Amino acid sequence: MSATALDADPARRVLNEVFGYADFRGEQREIVDHVAAGGDALVLMPTGGGKSLCYQVPAILRHQAGQGVTVVVSPLIALMHDQVGALDEFGVRAAFLNSTLEGDEARRVERDLMAGRLVLLYAAPERILTPRFMAMLESLAERGLLGLFAIDEAHCVSQWGHDFREEYLGLSALHERFPGVPRMALTATADDHTRADIVARLQLAEARLFVASFDRPNIRYTIVEKDDPRRQLLRFIRDEHEGDAGIVYCQSRKKVEETAAWLVQEGIAALPYHAGLEAEMRRRHQDRFLREDGLVIVATIAFGMGIDKPDVRFVAHLDLPKNIEAYYQETGRGGRDGLAADAWMAYGLADVVNQRRMIDESEAEEEFKRLQRGKLDALLALAEAHDCRRVRLLAYFGEASGPCGNCDNCLAAPATWDATEAARKALSCVYRFKQQGGRHFGAGHLIDVLRGKATDKVAQFRHEKLSTFGIGADVSETQWRSVLRQLIALGHLRTEGEFNTLELTPSAREVLKGEVQLLLRVPSDAPKRSAKATRSTRPKPPPLPLDEAAAARFAELKAWRAEVAREHNLPAYIVFVDAALAEMARQRPATLDELAGISGVGAKKLEAYGAEILRVLESSE
Ligand code: ADP
Ligand code: ZN
Repeated sequence: MSATALDADPARRVLNEVFGYADFRGEQREIVDHVAAGGDALVLMPTGGGKSLCYQVPAILRHQAGQGVTVVVSPLIALMHDQVGALDEFGVRAAFLNSTLEGDEARRVERDLMAGRLVLLYAAPERILTPRFMAMLESLAERGLLGLFAIDEAHCVSQWGHDFREEYLGLSALHERFPGVPRMALTATADDHTRADIVARLQLAEARLFVASFDRPNIRYTIVEKDDPRRQLLRFIRDEHEGDAGIVYCQSRKKVEETAAWLVQEGIAALPYHAGLEAEMRRRHQDRFLREDGLVIVATIAFGMGIDKPDVRFVAHLDLPKNIEAYYQETGRGGRDGLAADAWMAYGLADVVNQRRMIDESEAEEEFKRLQRGKLDALLALAEAHDCRRVRLLAYFGEASGPCGNCDNCLAAPATWDATEAARKALSCVYRFKQQGGRHFGAGHLIDVLRGKATDKVAQFRHEKLSTFGIGADVSETQWRSVLRQLIALGHLRTEGEFNTLELTPSAREVLKGEVQLLLRVPSDAPKRSAKATRSTRPKPPPLPLDEAAAARFAELKAWRAEVAREHNLPAYIVFVDAALAEMARQRPATLDELAGISGVGAKKLEAYGAEILRVLESSE
């Protein structure tokens, strides 16, 4: 674009010159124009979709136009710190106010704010709603220096969502006190319920709604059956992500610690993170994960919100998440830089049973439980699916799509078997237990009886006398587990009590009568019809396709970046993301002009680092 055309397009100029990016992505352009012109907006965009720019560019434009500061409401201190660090690297005046600042620093920030020097100010909601802060906002507003409110992670306002924060409810005060100041709310989690809550509670009925595609094409989804989950995880990391940064989610604190310790023992650099660890240790582990290259963090869901490390190469789940929203948000933390990333999950019968029980036993109201059960069902259907995972994920968020070619099922269509008959046998065996002795039994015993195993328990209850004893000897134990899991997932069987005994539900009749057809994936230890279904033949995703010489330059650039990051006390990716360094290594620019053409190199970074980068590139042969 020529200089004059850029002058006529200030948003584009800011994108190019400040951030160094060539083009807006997807909906960014429209959102920026709408908000910069003073409109209200509700922005739904997947994690990694590029929400920050949607308020940062308008903030810069409005500040340049003399309209003052953009106040960003953000729930997390770590996030504020890194966002401000990143803006600083781009040469944008930004600051945060939170409890980590010393009195002096906080006063300096307040002075800058009141003098109209700040382009963006980040603060937590509880801070913003204090009388002192509201008074400062009043004073700015009177002088026309309050340009925009951006409410990040807006789903925190909804009790239905999974990150509800009481303080967010108070944010409607912003609109009441400052009706003339434009507001935008942004979130990555947005089922209809949550969306309606955001609109109602933040009074955004008049705001324009922007719904970006939820697709994250660079993430490859894989869901495997649990067999020996730790070993499966280790194999996955060793085969596909040696030396990569990744997140492993587990449900309990104990499992987090055990898994982290075990990975370390197996030679993988891993750190635990959960809410039961001392605050200081938590902070240290999070910091190391953000700052160092190639660490694996093993965590409960306490970890992750606001973690915008762009080069997380995999997100693994050793336990089933609560629902698809949670799964999508957690897996969305992989591959924010747009390069290939994996979302990998191992799941089994116990996961289904546990999740169901957690809902059943919670204190919540029946309506809430029903909603949770519905959400769990959708997740189970995803896990059991033999068609494209992405099609199902996107459909859940209301988006139609075709087979993606980048999920396990697309890459190697799983073999299936007709389990209709087996399901009938299992259910009638449960029925016979009840009929014979008025008792219920768990999955292990049921499978023993179906397979005709002479165990002590079988003898004790004389189950060898049942007509169902041994009628399923031709079906492997793993296959039986998959049948039971599916029956529980579909709601034809439910589990009861401490021992998870199995009971029929009313809908079991339909299966017994042969009205329900069950087509199941062939479990991994059963004979395979498709040889392609083994993991080892899957093509390894190439995160950075560089030739040997370029890879060497990339390594040197990374070493240089690590030094700069240490000096500035910033995560390496804030200096430059991997994608930018890889592009430099590939193109090998020889002049500052050529370097400026690379995505991610804005004016400030060019000035600060350009000469050094050229030197690094020149000296590497
Ligand atoms: P979100 O907050 O939606 O999860 P971010 O705002 O953190 O996503 O953006 C994700 C990544 O994409 C960041 O590294 C960001 O710099 C990059 N990015 C965003 N918009 C663009 C763009 N138009 N061109 C290039 N990179 C972009
Ligand atoms: Zn697919």
